[in-house]
Amino acid sequence: MWNTIKPAVLAGVLLCLCRTALLAAERIEALEPHMGTMFRIVLYDDDPSQAHIAIRAAFDRVAELDGELSDYKPDSELNRVAVAAVGHDVPISNDLYTVLAASQSLADRTNGAFDVTLGPVIRLWRTARRTGVLPGGDEIAAASLRSGYRKLHVRNDGAPEIRLDIPGMQLDLGAIAKGYAADEGLRVLREHGFPQALVAASGDIAFGDAPPGQVGWDTGVDSINAPNESFTQVLQLHNAAISTSGDTEQFAEIDGVRYSHIVNPETGKGLTTRVGVTVVAARGIISDGLSTAASVIAEQHGPEAALELIRQSAARGIVVIQTDGKWLRYESPI
Ligand code: AMP
Ligand code: MG
Repeated sequence: MWNTIKPAVLAGVLLCLCRTALLAAERIEALEPHMGTMFRIVLYDDDPSQAHIAIRAAFDRVAELDGELSDYKPDSELNRVAVAAVGHDVPISNDLYTVLAASQSLADRTNGAFDVTLGPVIRLWRTARRTGVLPGGDEIAAASLRSGYRKLHVRNDGAPEIRLDIPGMQLDLGAIAKGYAADEGLRVLREHGFPQALVAASGDIAFGDAPPGQVGWDTGVDSINAPNESFTQVLQLHNAAISTSGDTEQFAEIDGVRYSHIVNPETGKGLTTRVGVTVVAARGIISDGLSTAASVIAEQHGPEAALELIRQSAARGIVVIQTDGKWLRYESPI
């Protein structure tokens, strides 16, 4: 989902604003391409001239994060430190620290099912999606040797730093950066006086205060097994975040096997289990990381273990999984 829309296609799409009168406040919606997807801001406002300033600031913040956290941009902070930090500590930004620290904590709690050092393996599968050719076993083995969250050391003894154990490592924050960017966009909107807002980045949405006169933002939860049907459930959310991971958009189908863009580090392959996970948590950085992690856990240890991870993280979730040709749905109270 990190790269579902090609930057070239998006080049001509700039800020698009539309308004709908609602009660005293106006609903304002704005779209802008960032992080290889379309970001959407919705807010309610009595003073539209100020809203435009707030929206600009929020999108600028997301663009700043893209410059730090992208694995696509060769000169991103992430890509630069992956080279510079081999064998010794190098300073990193607070943003990169926040995302890497959350990632390493999730890696610890999932025994490496969630692992942002899988960059070399993820890139092999990205190529496979493009070419339709499976990566060789030796290629996967070599890429796996250059991966492993224990080879990444993230510290903050007053100033944040990272170190990598071996050359050729590549970090990939595609499973967590959009959730953090949604959180940060929302924070900027609140700081500018617009708490009744949401920031959405494809499968990751962060919600602020509820819209005027409502208990929350109506949010449809789609289901992986019925992508063309209407939403299976509508939640009213505020001051929370929701993320969905699945293979409905990004997958490779090779020799009759469907490989997800989410990699199982135990096999070095894209998930071959059909699974979709939706997580509701306090913040996007949590829901985004967890929905990806729970997808891997569902393949490794089954759907109950995936739900258990979500529960232990003070979050709620839905896991939909295909077993023996049948779709099964597991849910923690949501
Ligand atoms: P999401 O759409 O949030 O589930 O994130 C999927 C993206 O996360 C993939 O496109 C990869 O960039 C990255 N990714 C794939 N497998 C893993 C994994 N096991 N741990 C962490 N990130 C992963
Ligand atoms: Mg994710």
